[in-house]
Formats: sequence, C-alpha cells, structure tokens
Amino acid sequence: MPKVYSLLGQRRFVPIEWRDPNLNTIPHNNMAVIECLACGVVREIERAQIPERLQHSQISDIEARMKCKACEAKQARLMFGYLVGGDGAS
Ligand SMILES: [Zn+2]
Repeated sequence: MPKVYSLLGQRRFVPIEWRDPNLNTIPHNNMAVIECLACGVVREIERAQIPERLQHSQISDIEARMKCKACEAKQARLMFGYLVGGDGAS
C-alpha cells in the first residue's frame, strides 16, 4: 500500500514513486505536494511556484533549495502524484 497524505478539504494524496526524475519529465496532470521531513507539514504547491530556473532540474536539486515556511528546515520532500478518495472514487 502506498502512503496516503491528508490534504486540506479531506482530500487524500498518493505520491507516485518517481526515481528522482527531471521536473520537466513529470506529466503535468500530477499534483505537486511538499512534505517537510523535519516538522511534518504537508502542503500542496502549484508547479508554477517552482522558480523558472529550476523547471529543468532534478527533483533532488529542487528539494535541496526548498525551505519550510513553518520551521525553516531544509528537509523537503517534493512529491508528485494524484488524489484519491472523496466519495469512494479512486
Ligand atoms: Zn518544517
């Protein structure tokens, strides 16, 4: 079973197990979610929020540049995936 993350509005997010791909190879229908491994905050982002200069970077390079807004740690995990749940849809 893949790990499921709870988002706002009782939505649930399931990350796809990408192997550190380049951002521009991830299909645009994937949602982007950031987890802070230091404080556990999970938050949704728009891909457009990732700076232009990082749009062709490896995921691990982007993670290394992200700082948590809550605790200021630089331990981000950037995930791409899809939503499940709601009314039984999957
Ligand atoms: Zn944090």
